[in-house]
Amino acid sequence: MSERPVISLSGVDACVSSLKTCKTYINTGMDITTNVALDLVENHNDPEEINSMEEVMLEYATMNRELNHYVQAVEETVKQIKQDKPEIIPNLRHLVMERFRNLESNNCDADIQRNERVVLFKEQIKQMKTQFGIQSGAEEGPALEQVDEDIAVTQSQRKFICPITQEEMKKPVRNRICGHTYEEEAILEHIWRRHQHKKKVKCPQVGCNNKEVRKADLVFDEALKRTIEMWNKQSQSTQ
Ligand SMILES: [Zn+2]
Repeated sequence: MSERPVISLSGVDACVSSLKTCKTYINTGMDITTNVALDLVENHNDPEEINSMEEVMLEYATMNRELNHYVQAVEETVKQIKQDKPEIIPNLRHLVMERFRNLESNNCDADIQRNERVVLFKEQIKQMKTQFGIQSGAEEGPALEQVDEDIAVTQSQRKFICPITQEEMKKPVRNRICGHTYEEEAILEHIWRRHQHKKKVKCPQVGCNNKEVRKADLVFDEALKRTIEMWNKQSQSTQ
């Protein structure tokens, strides 16, 4: 009696997990690009150069989508084979490529623009530009902000304060859901404490109606961190 050969797919699993580690390289690349772009804004460099950083971000986002599609194609193919249990080992490469092309054929630019990191990148650049008084539009008007300077000062400084510690933030993280920022360590401890008591974590910002703060929604706010540092440097030098 001949038994049906068992197709071993462990090699495929190993490949998939190494593909997944490629994602960390993409994320690192995106981190570096964001930092370079923020440096450019901080040093009032050519807007063209800042735009070219945005192009780099879009390229990374495209790579990320391609990688996701490839992993998805491999995983679906493996699942199919495990279900069908074919007698002859099928041409895996062919099957994967077929699925991959199919997934890629539905690509559109909007996916890339919606990439979470691309969205964050644009927000951070915008935030830095506002902070450094660079208008994203055409001409820079004469020092309009001079008039509202006092108001602007107190408003900005209030944004530097963590709602939990009531102190100036050193490592601000922003909640993607409600947009509030907190000191990283303080919010993580707050979440941990509430969870210990099996309670939901309300956003600690007064007046916010976000009833569930999750760790996964917190993103490091590099632009704000830089703004705080810049602000402190400036106020030290004027004293
Ligand atoms: Zn909030």
